[in-house]
Amino acid sequence: MSKLVLYMFIAAIITPFTSVVEADKEVYICNGPKSKRYHYRKNCRGLKRCSTRIYKMSLEEAKEEGRTLCGWED
Ligand SMILES: [Zn+2]
Repeated sequence: MSKLVLYMFIAAIITPFTSVVEADKEVYICNGPKSKRYHYRKNCRGLKRCSTRIYKMSLEEAKEEGRTLCGWED
């Protein structure tokens, strides 16, 4: 077995598990029109400025909306 085939074989085994973990991870988002961030913590400083409702969604969904991790998260 060549190294490439071996690598693809390992990736095929690992990928389904990692994507399940990603999809399971929930983040908080502010639904305001200017909000382009997602947050791991509900009590994050970035969310305190949110003037509209705070929603929970999967990390995957947040990324699909083009959101990026909030600057206050570590
Ligand atoms: Zn945040």
